[in-house]
Amino acid sequence: MTQKMEEYTWISIISDHPVFAGHAHPVLRRLASLYGVNITIKGPSDTSGEKYIKAINDAVKRKVAGIMLIGFPVKGVVAAVSKAIDSNIPVVTVDSDIPHSRRIAHVGTNWFKMGSGMADKLAELTGNKGKVLMLGMKGLANMEAGFRGFRQRMSDYPGMDIIGCEDDMDATTARAEKIVEEYLENHPDLSGIVGFDGNSGPGAARVLEKRGKHGDIKVLCVDADEMQAKHIKTGAIDAAFCQKREVFTSVAFQMLYSFNHGSAITGNIPGKVNIIGNIDTGHIIVTKDNLNTVEEELRLDEIYQRHNVIQRCNLLTNMVENIDSISMAVDSSGMVVYANPSAEKQLGYDHGKLVRVSIDKLFVLSPGIRDKMQDCLGRGIPASFDTVARKSEGAVFPVHVNIAEIKTGFHGKGIVLFAVNNTGRKRMEEEILRKNQELESFVYSVSHDLRSPLVSLYGYAENLYQGNMDKLDDQDKHYFNRIFSNIKKMEELIHDLLELSRIGRVIGERTDVKVREILREAAARFSEQLKENDIDVEVTAEGGCVINVDKKQIAKVMDNLMSNAIKYMGNGRKKHIELSCGKCGDNTRICVKDTGMGIDKKYHDKIFEIFQRIGGGKEETEGTGIGLAIVDKIIKGHDGRVWVDSALGKGSEFCFEIPRKKGES
Ligand code: ADP
Repeated sequence: MTQKMEEYTWISIISDHPVFAGHAHPVLRRLASLYGVNITIKGPSDTSGEKYIKAINDAVKRKVAGIMLIGFPVKGVVAAVSKAIDSNIPVVTVDSDIPHSRRIAHVGTNWFKMGSGMADKLAELTGNKGKVLMLGMKGLANMEAGFRGFRQRMSDYPGMDIIGCEDDMDATTARAEKIVEEYLENHPDLSGIVGFDGNSGPGAARVLEKRGKHGDIKVLCVDADEMQAKHIKTGAIDAAFCQKREVFTSVAFQMLYSFNHGSAITGNIPGKVNIIGNIDTGHIIVTKDNLNTVEEELRLDEIYQRHNVIQRCNLLTNMVENIDSISMAVDSSGMVVYANPSAEKQLGYDHGKLVRVSIDKLFVLSPGIRDKMQDCLGRGIPASFDTVARKSEGAVFPVHVNIAEIKTGFHGKGIVLFAVNNTGRKRMEEEILRKNQELESFVYSVSHDLRSPLVSLYGYAENLYQGNMDKLDDQDKHYFNRIFSNIKKMEELIHDLLELSRIGRVIGERTDVKVREILREAAARFSEQLKENDIDVEVTAEGGCVINVDKKQIAKVMDNLMSNAIKYMGNGRKKHIELSCGKCGDNTRICVKDTGMGIDKKYHDKIFEIFQRIGGGKEETEGTGIGLAIVDKIIKGHDGRVWVDSALGKGSEFCFEIPRKKGES
């Protein structure tokens, strides 16, 4: 079943008048397609008050979603508006208001202001002297306000005199023309004519042009459509004061739509419009000078702009309102100024009850977190942290929080805060840790169990070899040697695996150790191998460097790095290893630099993973691909990091950094 499109209706007397057809109708059509609603134009095409009231009553019967009404002071209009409001149909008046009615708002030009503006302009054009005639439709709220504004301001110009205010209500200019003819006959010294109705100005201009008097008598009018523009060009109309019909038409529609659907301006609650009263959409003055550009000024794509702003506002509001995480805005004193429904639900507060609650009550804020919040407020630095949230009844749960500065807003500076319940992630982290430990135990016990049969295998093979030495030919001996070397390789692999699985658990016993000692001892342990391979070693350590580490584990790191430096030295250039140490910010840095074969840049990260053997000498050198994984694990276990700087053929420098203890020099 297709749903009937929501209908909004626009009602005016002479609703197909060229002015409305030119300004309001295209806007209504665009709004209808933008919002996916039906906007009907239902007023009569004549000046019948009865038909006008009937159009309103019919709309109420049709249960339209909203009525936009150009107010005419006909009998029964106030009652018709009341009937609509009682049927829960919102009514907004545009252009001309219906005073004393229960319409929810009026949107349009402030005619009183426009009237005083016309008085100022006329005084300027006439040099502040002469007789003035006012024309317009009497009884209409907007024009009456215009008359009042004009009169009041005119009283400030003693040289000027209003000699008449005539009702020229007509669908054509004929009546205005007739009145102006009469006045010119009786008042040859008339200096200005002000027309408040769309037809008044052109009517006056025609008469003046016919008599060759245009330019002598100053004419001001409203609207700058084709009809007026023609006379502005000839100079018969000096200035036209224009309402912004496109703007007020779209503002009024958006109010009605918001009334039904809720929006940012209604606090997203349908059935409410926060703006009640008059919205002045201003006016614009058109003269010969800006006639060509005024189209652009008037018809700026304000409708689309407003639509986009409102849509964006609605989208963001919906996002924040519907998001499953706690979102809040907090002012500079730490009070909640906005909280989304999820925040209320997760923290156990009734709707609206989180506002004005201090975040101290809602989150555990350590001094470190407070510093972050201050930095966010004062310097706009965003931050994230883990903490604990407190429910209204006292229960707590872990949260991960992101904060950012709100630069402007209703409450000045503040912080926007997003928090996600961390219980799930914490559980997952614990699970991963547990699984890792299980895996390590498994690797440990498998390696351990493999070691004994391997040792006996080696023993048996050795006995066999020793016992049959004289019977073995060269081929047999070669096979035996292959067995021995492969058993050795397996032993090495098992040893490394055991090391790797043990590290996580073993780090703990930390002591203060002089780095120079660590480096010198490492060099000493390898002295024979260094000599055999013709490599010289240099230790350049700052005297005072002390680190708080598991000494055995760091010795293991040094051994792995040293043995690699020797193993991958290659032949050729001067064979040199440098062991160095120094302070780097809050860390102590230790490096092992060699002049060996080097490692291609693309492998720099990979080599720290287990079983990665990719450097230059895979074929020529023995290895398991575990050494650097052990190094990485030990250094991470000390909250440090390890990396390599190297290029193929250029040697390598392996460095690691370990944070110094607080207060350590
Ligand atoms: P293994 O040495 O047992 O192969 P490692 O984890 O110690 O395993 O090293 C991984 C890989 O990194 C080595 O196979 C080698 O290709 C490369 N590598 C490590 N140290 C050096 C070095 N100092 N010079 C050149 N390549 C190196």
